[in-house]
Amino acid sequence: MTDSTSIPASPTAPGDRVVLVTGGAGGIGRAIAEAFLAVGDRVIVADVDADAAAATASALGATALAVDITDPAAVAAAVDQVVADHGRIDVLVNNAGILSVHGMLTELSPSDYELIVRVNILGTFTMTQAVARRMTADGVRGAIVNISSIGGRQPTPGMGAYESSKAAVDSLTRWAAIELAASGIRVNAVAPGPVLTPMLRAGMPEGSPAREAWASRIPLGRLAEVEDVAPAVVFLAGAEHITGVSLAVDGGQLLA
Ligand code: NAD
Repeated sequence: MTDSTSIPASPTAPGDRVVLVTGGAGGIGRAIAEAFLAVGDRVIVADVDADAAAATASALGATALAVDITDPAAVAAAVDQVVADHGRIDVLVNNAGILSVHGMLTELSPSDYELIVRVNILGTFTMTQAVARRMTADGVRGAIVNISSIGGRQPTPGMGAYESSKAAVDSLTRWAAIELAASGIRVNAVAPGPVLTPMLRAGMPEGSPAREAWASRIPLGRLAEVEDVAPAVVFLAGAEHITGVSLAVDGGQLLA
């Protein structure tokens, strides 16, 4: 039974929230930043690529923040900076991740696997811990949304390193959700199937065999656009009685 007296009375309303998006300079992160800006929230575009973060923030009317999510000292400093500049953090979107390293089980090097684990799991943990500590200390009834992948639940040959890291992100989501509920902090995940970011679109042009192969696995018949993913993140950030879920945005791929 949760002691409800320890939970702050109400969360900050949409339109008045301070939202920190990691990997905000990337394909999906940029769309997520735009979606929160569209409802009137203040958005901090955080990314290890400082130039890309600055360019994205300036184009969207957001604030840029250079941070490597795998560096605990840099993460702590970044969180302090955001709170000093904006007063609090209401929403953390753990979107930063590496998708580029793949390999079959019998071939992948341990160092490549370690890289994925460092960014996708440890980085997500480090950001979550730092922001959760801050929200709890400040009495902020916040929300955290992790960007997972349905690959964590449905394997594709050659993608297991990435996919197992996303299974861990789903587990981390439930871990954080159960422990932070007493502070009124909700933690959820959005798990997309393949998303046509500029990078993916360039690597898999319309009509290419690779695009067709993915589309054939998706009952709704097409890969996701970034605009299919971002609204799910905004929804979970404001869904006051939902915590610990990983919401598939996959055109039904998990059904097949
Ligand atoms: P992307 O490569 O376009 O963007 C990722 C961003 O994260 C980049 O801007 C990169 O600089 C940043 N980043 C990487 N390492 C970082 C670090 N250590 N610290 C801070 N920032 C770092 O990729 P995307 O397709 O937009 O992916 C975003 C998220 O969505 C990832 O977590 C990815 O796993 C997930 N996802 C993507 C797809 C897809 O098909 N594109 C599908 C499912 C899930």
